[in-house]
Amino acid sequence: MSREKDQIKGKGKGGGGSDMVVCSFCGRGSDEVNSMVAGPNAFICDRCIMSSVEILRKEISAIKPSPALSNQPFQPRLVSPKSIMESLGQYVIGQERARKSLAVAVYNHYKRIESQEWVRDDDDVVIEKSNILLIGPTGTGKTLLAQTLANLLEVPFTIVDATSLTEAGYVGDDVETILARLLQASDFNLERAEKGIIYVDEIDKIARKSANVSITRDVSGEGVQQALLKILEGAVVGVPPRGGRKHPEQQLINVNTKNILFVCGGAFEGLDKIIGRRVAKSSIGFGSKVKAQQVESDPEILKEVTQDDLHEYGLIPEFIGRLPVISTLDPLDKEALRSILVEPKNALVKQYQKLFEMEECELVFEDSALDKAVEIAIERGTGARALRSVLENIMINIMFELPSMTGVRKCVITEAVIAEEGKPEFYYGDGKQRKTA
Ligand code: ADP
Repeated sequence: MSREKDQIKGKGKGGGGSDMVVCSFCGRGSDEVNSMVAGPNAFICDRCIMSSVEILRKEISAIKPSPALSNQPFQPRLVSPKSIMESLGQYVIGQERARKSLAVAVYNHYKRIESQEWVRDDDDVVIEKSNILLIGPTGTGKTLLAQTLANLLEVPFTIVDATSLTEAGYVGDDVETILARLLQASDFNLERAEKGIIYVDEIDKIARKSANVSITRDVSGEGVQQALLKILEGAVVGVPPRGGRKHPEQQLINVNTKNILFVCGGAFEGLDKIIGRRVAKSSIGFGSKVKAQQVESDPEILKEVTQDDLHEYGLIPEFIGRLPVISTLDPLDKEALRSILVEPKNALVKQYQKLFEMEECELVFEDSALDKAVEIAIERGTGARALRSVLENIMINIMFELPSMTGVRKCVITEAVIAEEGKPEFYYGDGKQRKTA
């Protein structure tokens, strides 16, 4: 569309003769209004635009959920496992195994919710809840998977750090706080909250230090596992709507967790050794130390994890039992990290380019610059998490300066910039390079 005032089309009632532009909505001529916007074969005047904005504003505010607790019926958007997996792939690079098992588990979970409506008698098969345990090194996409899933299904989502939780009565957050956060994330719509997804991070940190209870009894970790048990399985929990501790006079909201999907994630450092020892023992017999070490250092060993290994790691059997779907994530290699920078829908590079575009500046990362960022990230050993800090560290200064650089239309990030050994190149609209101070 272009802003028109003088373009001449058709006859208007404004009395400007046969060449007058008229608004296709109200019929006013261009001499009766301040401005006229032209589309293909149509015009709209500023008055009609303003009225349209008003109408839309009223409609949008009418459909916005009210902050008060509401109980509107809510059905998550259910799509096939295949399309869940594919959609996850637009945001999460690699991790096919985890994407697939998440897609199936989530699909079954929401099918299970649907099926409850037609379970009629005690003989009907009851589908059990499929809470998920994601095991994988830090920064490999565990949280991202859970978050993306919730976005895709358009269900409320919250993240909680298991290490901040305590058994009821101890200093720290009660498990009820998690539900309070989910309620807040669903704008206090109880129906929506009760079908939401909760991601419990650092679940490995609440493992008991030893599987043998009689030797070390790490009460805090085990206590939190116990406290989580009831909400993982499904229970009605009185939740203080604003979070925090319960007070006797405070009104509680009863949240039923039976249909809330829990995704727990953790790096489980040292679990590979436990699995390795077991696999080595069973496959090569006793005594072959060298082969045992080979098995333990196999990067794929996590895939072999069993419930017994998790028990040995320090999760109590009842807790493991409530996480029936276990999936592992692979460490991200160079290639994966490189793709993460540029490929996902909201890849870091795309985000920075968008920000620069808003300053009318093209942002170019040279290939060697991206390789350098990956190299530094690998050295830091925190998976893709390091990529953001590497880029943010250098982009912050550039983004600070750019808005004051009049006329700059292109910025090139070289390898030296990422290595903090050089400055970015800036170019004006005519292609001339800007001299750096
Ligand atoms: P963790 O496994 O520790 O939960 P996160 O999911 O929080 O890791 O990942 C940290 C950041 O790294 C995310 O914000 C995301 O941008 C990026 N990231 C990690 N793994 C992937 C992946 N497989 N694909 C795309 N981005 C990823």
